Amino acid sequence: MTNYLAKLLFIYTFMISTASAVGNYDKFYDRVGFGHSASMNVSSVEIAIYARKDSDVATISSISRKVMSALPEFYGYSENKCKNLSLLILEAPESVINDRDVMSFLSWHKWGDIRILGVYDSLASPHGTGTIFLSRDRGTRELEITVVHELVHYWQDTRCLNISEREADRFVEFFMNKPS
Ligand SMILES: [Zn+2]
Repeated sequence: MTNYLAKLLFIYTFMISTASAVGNYDKFYDRVGFGHSASMNVSSVEIAIYARKDSDVATISSISRKVMSALPEFYGYSENKCKNLSLLILEAPESVINDRDVMSFLSWHKWGDIRILGVYDSLASPHGTGTIFLSRDRGTRELEITVVHELVHYWQDTRCLNISEREADRFVEFFMNKPS
């Protein structure tokens, strides 16, 4: 009886420690050396940005601010949050973002195993956060479009809406053609 209980306890502790010790993003952090970061609070959302270049941190911050104020305008409402998630934006080489081993926590099969420029993850992301992975490797304009697109997924997730690609693309069009 004691033995059995001890065994059970052991298995239980073992399960807990493997679950928390192996961070989903560990391989990613091992591969990417972030040189620059910034954190800000936009529309009551804590956003932390990490990138290889300082100018990209600036680009991502400035566009994120604009997107967060344009999203309520696009959707026609703002206060209908179903989740409070702080947001992490991580800029990395495109080759790392597409490395199936590093990014094994993503459901690659779900989107036909194609190459990606960016992705929003809230399943493997640390508790209470959503994470956007993206790359500057195709230039600033592509980086901006990716930020805008992935921020729509953050919005959809925190409003418990369907994660819709069409809607994200429609917002990108709306936002990029909007007079600033
Ligand atoms: Zn998308």
